Amino acid sequence: MQIEQFGCLRDNYGFLVHDPESGETACIDTPEVEPILAALARRGWRLTAIWNTHHHPDHAGGNLAIREATGCTIVGPAAEAARIPGIERSVAEGDEVRLGAHRFRVHDTPGHTSGHIVYHCPEQQVAFVGDTLFALGCGRLFEGTPQQMWASLRKLLEWPDDTLVYCAHEYTAANARFARSVEPDHKGLAAREREIEALRAKGQPTVPTRMGLERATNPFLRADDPALAEALGLAGAPAEQVFARTRELKDRF
Ligand SMILES: [Zn+2]
Repeated sequence: MQIEQFGCLRDNYGFLVHDPESGETACIDTPEVEPILAALARRGWRLTAIWNTHHHPDHAGGNLAIREATGCTIVGPAAEAARIPGIERSVAEGDEVRLGAHRFRVHDTPGHTSGHIVYHCPEQQVAFVGDTLFALGCGRLFEGTPQQMWASLRKLLEWPDDTLVYCAHEYTAANARFARSVEPDHKGLAAREREIEALRAKGQPTVPTRMGLERATNPFLRADDPALAEALGLAGAPAEQVFARTRELKDRF
């Protein structure tokens, strides 16, 4: 399985996933038409499907133009089917989408939007998480509650450390500044911030990230970590409350 990652709009990433055996290619979301078509042409791949994660225009806005240009099918979240342009197949928790012989499991991850989904291929240890999880961050809660988002993120926490996580935006440097402001003494975080700054100074992406690294350093995945609760003055509080407080602080950061 081959993955092509490229910048779209201001800070989005576009992704193509290709299976050389079958010749099938999927595009994860459609932030911007031209870079997607250019990436297909560059690799010489024929697009067979769009897999949408959620309905926001910087994720599904290019659906119809891309289908018009390629004849691909459009797969998206069942709970947002009415808001996904051109959707032909609705999927939800427990469903599977295939790319040749590769199987991706669909998980419902409400929070950023009410019907957000993610695509996870356990066999290849690869996941496309849209705006649910970011490197050192998570999506804003436009349509969901902190309780819902924490439950969604706990599903991702089931994945093995080596899982490569493809997030839809390059927000990592700002996320690192926030995370450090909450836990200035977290050693792993300080080291990671230096790596992130070095990458960004060279214009390189910080995406994909690894689940193990996020588990260890991303405050939004550590709402059940007593050290984070303590740093927030919430020692002994339930994880949902720690998560809600972290999200609230980030919204105002
Ligand atoms: Zn979004």
